[in-house]
Amino acid sequence: MRMVMRSRFTRLGRLGEVSTVAKCSKCGSKAVIKIPYARMNLCEMHFIEYFEGRVATTVKKYDLLKEGESVLVAVSGGKDSVALLSALTAVAPELRLKVMPLHIHLGLGEYSDESLRVTKEVSRKLGVNTFILSLEEVVGATIPELSAKSSRPPCAVCGLVKRYVLNAAAIEWGVDAVATGHHIDDLAPYALKNILLGDMGAALKLAPVTTGEEGYLARRVRPLYEVTERECLIYAIIKGLPFVKTLCPNVFLGGMDALIRRFLYELDLRHPGVKLRFMRSLARMATRYGVSQARTQAELTRCKYCGLPSRSDVCGFCRLTERVLGSPAGPMVREALKDVRASSH
Ligand SMILES: [Zn+2]
Ligand SMILES: [Zn+2]
Repeated sequence: MRMVMRSRFTRLGRLGEVSTVAKCSKCGSKAVIKIPYARMNLCEMHFIEYFEGRVATTVKKYDLLKEGESVLVAVSGGKDSVALLSALTAVAPELRLKVMPLHIHLGLGEYSDESLRVTKEVSRKLGVNTFILSLEEVVGATIPELSAKSSRPPCAVCGLVKRYVLNAAAIEWGVDAVATGHHIDDLAPYALKNILLGDMGAALKLAPVTTGEEGYLARRVRPLYEVTERECLIYAIIKGLPFVKTLCPNVFLGGMDALIRRFLYELDLRHPGVKLRFMRSLARMATRYGVSQARTQAELTRCKYCGLPSRSDVCGFCRLTERVLGSPAGPMVREALKDVRASSH
């Protein structure tokens, strides 16, 4: 036990969080993390309470989920989705939510196998039943294959597939909303980039919630809207939860995105809380202008193959799979999701 505790502290120590003499602002015991914008140092126990409390407050403040609702949680096995699943599971009894985790095996070689292994271990630790869907088993092709045969970048294909499967699962299972592990450090740089490029509509879609439509388009919620990447990492470590430590093999960190990310990071170091105020004002604007709802109704129709949302008569997923595999895979995915749900009972 002592060894475990020590190695855990060493790992936190290496993050350079707080000085060794810093005391928790709530109880006076040894602090492990500093929360600059709240001017607090917290011990392990009070940090967990803070993190989970913040997730619960976000859910209530932005009306992401109502009492009695069910939420599909996208779990990739990375630290953010692991933190999301753990925190939502912890606050579910208080908020009266039903948490339903889903992991999609994307066929990205070793990386995907490790992600699946970690997801299973986390689920076991948290005592939750995670649904697993293998892209290769269902459509007969992996992300690299779909990408190569369509000549589209793997990240674009991956994003399209994940969005499609998550929405299809929510619709097929009658779940009220889909929750993703996007935190403020994912969302703020992207929002600022869109504003700089003059696409206010795209920026406003990064609000904590985008509305859905019954039986067709699931509501999307972001319970980690007000927590940072660093907080997700430290929460997962303190909770002793495993997570995939390597980056996706397709990830590309460069260009304008990286510059904006660095700028926001440094700005927030000097002016703690500025990033949070920026995203809160964005959320208020999204509510005021009702952007997500207007876009949904005006721009989307139903795919003629699978019946799910589309900008034209065939949805992006059915178009991609029809081109690569010869027939649209949307209906197959919907069928497979029915079996996934049934076989886990
Ligand atoms: Zn404390
Ligand atoms: Zn379709």
